[in-house]
Amino acid sequence: MSKNICPVCNYDGLSEPPYNNSGDGSYEICRCCGFQFGYRDYGKNGYKDKNILILHWRSMWIDSGYIWHSRATKPPLGWDGKKQLEDGNMHLSNEQKEQLQEFLLQY
Ligand SMILES: [Zn+2]
Repeated sequence: MSKNICPVCNYDGLSEPPYNNSGDGSYEICRCCGFQFGYRDYGKNGYKDKNILILHWRSMWIDSGYIWHSRATKPPLGWDGKKQLEDGNMHLSNEQKEQLQEFLLQY
């Protein structure tokens, strides 16, 4: 069974794939970063802004200090949010940060 990975924080313990083949969200809330697929990624223009909304949530999660979201489920032993993002090469580049700033100014 392949793992279901969160596109926001790279957590690999999602119960189901975040998006189905049509691109619709699962409505699952990531236990790690708190992102809800099909809700937090659904912006003013529907799913059109999905990718940037994902980046935005990742940016906020980083700024929060990589806080584990779920109260019901504890993080895996030795869990390290920063390392988790680094493992997925998912830290925000300067280009992504600029893109995000421009987007937020207009949103
Ligand atoms: Zn996540």
